[in-house]
Amino acid sequence: MALIVQKYGGTSVGSIERIKIVARHIKETKDKGHKVVAIVSAMAGETDKLINLAKELSDRPSEREMDLLLSSGERISSALVAIRINEIGAKAVAMTGRQCGMVTDEVHTKARIKSIDADKIMEYVDDDYIVIIAGFQGISEKTGDVTTLGRGGSDTTAVAIAAAIKADVCEIYTDVDGIYTADPRIVKDARKLDKISYSEMMELASLGAKVLQIRSVEFGMKYDVPIMVLSSFTFNKGTLVTKEDENMEKILVSGIAQDKNQARLKINNVKDEPGIASMIFNTIAKNNINVDVIVQNVSDDGRTTDISFTVPREDADKAYELLKELSKTIDAGDVSINKDVAKVSIVGVGMRSHPGVAAKMFDALAKEGVNIRAISTSEIKVSCLIDEKYTELAVRTLHDAFNLSNKG
Ligand code: ADP
Ligand code: ASP
Ligand code: MG
Repeated sequence: MALIVQKYGGTSVGSIERIKIVARHIKETKDKGHKVVAIVSAMAGETDKLINLAKELSDRPSEREMDLLLSSGERISSALVAIRINEIGAKAVAMTGRQCGMVTDEVHTKARIKSIDADKIMEYVDDDYIVIIAGFQGISEKTGDVTTLGRGGSDTTAVAIAAAIKADVCEIYTDVDGIYTADPRIVKDARKLDKISYSEMMELASLGAKVLQIRSVEFGMKYDVPIMVLSSFTFNKGTLVTKEDENMEKILVSGIAQDKNQARLKINNVKDEPGIASMIFNTIAKNNINVDVIVQNVSDDGRTTDISFTVPREDADKAYELLKELSKTIDAGDVSINKDVAKVSIVGVGMRSHPGVAAKMFDALAKEGVNIRAISTSEIKVSCLIDEKYTELAVRTLHDAFNLSNKG
């Protein structure tokens, strides 16, 4: 008998029919003798619908109220799933973030989990109940207000709860049957991986593969929770996210990710002296804008240089205004903005021990005429900033270049 956490994403609980299927699968797991805690997302499209309703009423709705609003999507689906399980002959209770002891910091719309008091969950589990938890939400430690964990946050709820109750596994049920070498919506012959390391999955998630929220993988790695990603449509064996092993190092590139949520800003004729970069990036950071790929050109004359960097597209206009203001203060030149860029990345722990991977990537992109506008690397990834219109072409080209469909 195992203690199993299951998470069902929006599409998995997207209709009454889907909820019936999910409820049956949860009950079947319990009938096999396991203890089950299930986390559910809002029904597909619900969170977007609520966001749009708020936007019809205000250009900048208050974040505290947005959290209260958005948390309702998951409350609805958790209650519906529990209602159905009770109907088909098992005992189930639904719980909100507050009821299941999910405590976060105060940062509305992207709160981080501080602690989980799982006693209440375990009381029900020990009393033979199936517990259905509303994902994506918690309450703030200081104010007791409802918070949410950022888009895709139910993944993080699930893995964090699995860690807190020391579950044997955290199963993430979604609309694909595992983690693929690239987004299967873009690369038709992408290959399903049997397993992937936490660190590779973390890179893929942070580079745009939204199949798992990045924080969920961090929790998995930190608390050693085996995460299995699988489909609630086929229930076939999925992909295990787990610790790195020797075999993983043999593979050069494990996966490819793309991210269109990028914008590039550039500030010209910046004085080439200590303290200038610090001023620019402090101004951006103070406004809670995350900076990604940074390029500073080597100055030819030793007096001025250009600095460019990327930010999430939704923050681009704000960053542009800040930069224009700052340019006057530091006596720099023009500021420009480009929202038609995207980032494509290759990820693999094997890169550590194999030289030439980046060169091969640049070569493949060049052959297709895709211009690289900026590059950033880490030990296990190479990212290139390119024109957005080439995103799909670039992903498919790299998938072929690294022969990803045929391995295994
Ligand atoms: P859920 O609603 O279940 O949380 P998501 O839409 O958040 O589901 O995540 C599943 C989607 O992630 C898939 O439909 C797929 O298009 C996308 N995806 C992106 N990259 C990958 C990848 N490398 N492997 C599998 N799925 C991926
Ligand atoms: N419902 C939230 C979203 O759409 C959280 C989730 O599905 O994980 O982002
Ligand atoms: Mg998701």
